[in-house]
Amino acid sequence: MPIYATDHFVLPLPEGHRFPMAKYARLRERVAAIAPHMVREPPAATDAELARAHDPAYIAAVTSGTLDERAMRRIGFPWSPAMVERSRRSAGATIAASRSALAHGFGINLAGGTHHAHRDFGEGFCVFNDAVVAARAMQAEGLAGRVLIVDLDVHQGDGTAAITSDDPTIHTLSIHGRNNFPFRKQASSHDIELADGTGDDAYLATLRVALPLGIEASRPDLAIYLAGADPYVGDRLGRLALSKTGLASRDTYVLDSLRAAGVPVAIAMAGGYAENIDDVVDIHCATVRIALQRFADGKRATLLTCSPTTPSSSPTRAPSPG
Ligand SMILES: [Zn+2]
Repeated sequence: MPIYATDHFVLPLPEGHRFPMAKYARLRERVAAIAPHMVREPPAATDAELARAHDPAYIAAVTSGTLDERAMRRIGFPWSPAMVERSRRSAGATIAASRSALAHGFGINLAGGTHHAHRDFGEGFCVFNDAVVAARAMQAEGLAGRVLIVDLDVHQGDGTAAITSDDPTIHTLSIHGRNNFPFRKQASSHDIELADGTGDDAYLATLRVALPLGIEASRPDLAIYLAGADPYVGDRLGRLALSKTGLASRDTYVLDSLRAAGVPVAIAMAGGYAENIDDVVDIHCATVRIALQRFADGKRATLLTCSPTTPSSSPTRAPSPG
């Protein structure tokens, strides 16, 4: 059962750029240490696959590097051919993980969750919306009819909500920080906004109400779960206060609920901006471990080291996205 990694497709960034590119390689290394045979490189998403979620003119402009300066600033990455390839591979990984989910019950993309990408523009480090691209690929291939996107990144899944606003076959549930980016929110099927400083207990209580409602309302053939690491107390952009234990409880609850409902799940990692990248990797790693314990080789999963370390930095406020 494959786990899809795209960290070999590195996006070149200037010194001091805020995006934690290094987390992907570190996460893949930890997973590969216990399951080298499972880690695979996904195919790149094609123009036809991307065009189910994006304007063909936007795809062409991204590909050829002809987006204007303002549009690139909005994305937050400098353009390069490698940026295009990485974005396509990351979307391809969520497509592949969704296909794996429908075949085996679950699938994992060690990247993805680029939920701020809209139909004709990218934003907040998001170029293509992998969850919508993957949901529509599964629909187009006749593998799934109804899809539930469970977006627990701390930022609202505004691009996902906007692209699917008139699509009754894709149900979007987003639990996010009220005072966080994006400051102009879109309407998901179900939005829950949390106050700054929300901790484990309040978060999990909210999730335990919202997720069953989402499953019930959508009756999905497939769920795509954005397991963002940025609700973490030590996250520079998160504004919430979940512990690593709380985030692991979140993942456990989501995966157990979907499994109990018989819903296959594709997992994408989404955001994570803690000062110490190892904190982010720990949180993503725990998501993978919990998924492997539930859906695959539990014994092997226990070998996966996702050591809980204390927050290495006090939360500081930085402006904008993720
Ligand atoms: Zn985020």
